[in-house]
Amino acid sequence: MRSLSIFGATGSVGEQTVDLLRRAGGAEAFRVVALTGGRNLSRLADMARELRAEVAVCADALGLPELRERLAGSGVEAAAGPEAIAEAADRPADWVMSAIVGAAGLVPGIRALRHGAVLALANKESLVTAGPLLMAEAAQHGARILPVDSEHSAIFQALVGEDIAAVERIILTASGGALRDWPLEALAKATVSDALAHPNWAMGQRITIDSASMFNKALEVIETREFFGVEPEQIEVIIHPESLIHSMVGYRDGAIMAHLGAPDMRHAIGYALNWPARAELPVARLDLAQVATLTFRAPDLARYPALRLARAVMARRGLAGAAFNAAKEVALDQFLAGGIGFMEMAGVVEAVLEAMDADLGRENATMSLEDVQAVDHLARIRAAERAGEIARGRAGAGRWT
Ligand code: NDP
Repeated sequence: MRSLSIFGATGSVGEQTVDLLRRAGGAEAFRVVALTGGRNLSRLADMARELRAEVAVCADALGLPELRERLAGSGVEAAAGPEAIAEAADRPADWVMSAIVGAAGLVPGIRALRHGAVLALANKESLVTAGPLLMAEAAQHGARILPVDSEHSAIFQALVGEDIAAVERIILTASGGALRDWPLEALAKATVSDALAHPNWAMGQRITIDSASMFNKALEVIETREFFGVEPEQIEVIIHPESLIHSMVGYRDGAIMAHLGAPDMRHAIGYALNWPARAELPVARLDLAQVATLTFRAPDLARYPALRLARAVMARRGLAGAAFNAAKEVALDQFLAGGIGFMEMAGVVEAVLEAMDADLGRENATMSLEDVQAVDHLARIRAAERAGEIARGRAGAGRWT
């Protein structure tokens, strides 16, 4: 029986993974080793009971008594805290879904690679912060990383049977997010609920806002570079409002291979779950006559400074990705808390990258987990300082206007 674990089981990707497992036979068909969650203890406990997991782990150590109570009599072990999540990743499983949001997903992913698992990677932040490290761990332990981001799954599928040396360019599609059609001058006033109204995809809160600012696409550009090993100049971004082409690979003979499908993450998750086979999946089939038109437009860098910053990160390489991601996470927290405006997030990230230039000079080859964590920590402090300055500036301006 195939064994598997899901990190971030209570989130959007986690829930959709559980949905696919349930349809494929659930606890009768899979041996579920570990399920982890953050704050949603009731959902975590329900899933762990349903799938008869060996262990359920929540991120907050203070949640342990409640989790134990919810699992009483089920035979599922309860554990809590970041170290317990990392230890859950040490338990061998054939297939591991990495769907924790943010930098917290990095350590469990690395630990799962160390026992040679197939790592289905939704947590793009792992590749952005520590791509060379992750790829080296996979190579050293004979593990396999499969992309779960829909764009990267599309690229992976468009590359099957092809030689990466024949690739001229990779074209990432972007929906443009909730604020795609807003006038540029209105973006500064966009609220959290404005940015959450995604036109096509139902996703977690953080990635939905990152989609509106295109920080999500910026992460994906860097993820593409790290995962497929192509040069930054080979990676293009195009806005495709219908979100039906999930990405494309352009070959040196001029051919472009595009991956089309309904905007439903269960395709990419299911592809990784069944790889290298294809299994029947519960996703809507496209009626192309009904679709009729596919449209594209070039992204405007004034609206999406995150895309420009992604290029700067790739030019710096090394630990710049860790600084970028950490600063972006803090800027997003500050936007969610009302401290800074929508367009000020990029300013925070840019200031951190500039301030840390001297600290980021290490070569990829010498990157260690400790280096990544140190840069992540420092970038968070710098980003919080910069966001605080902006917030104080706003409060000061507000007093006199
Ligand atoms: P969600 O916010 O919906 O879920 C995140 C999961 O991580 C939840 O299980 C949450 O627990 C848990 N979690 C949050 N913080 C921590 C922490 N500090 N330590 C441990 N666990 C934590 O996110 P998504 O499912 O949307 O995204 C997950 C990842 O997949 C992200 O990296 C995202 O970029 C990527 N992704 C998502 C897509 C989507 O369609 N949603 C598409 C492509 C990629 P709880 O909810 O219990 O608090």
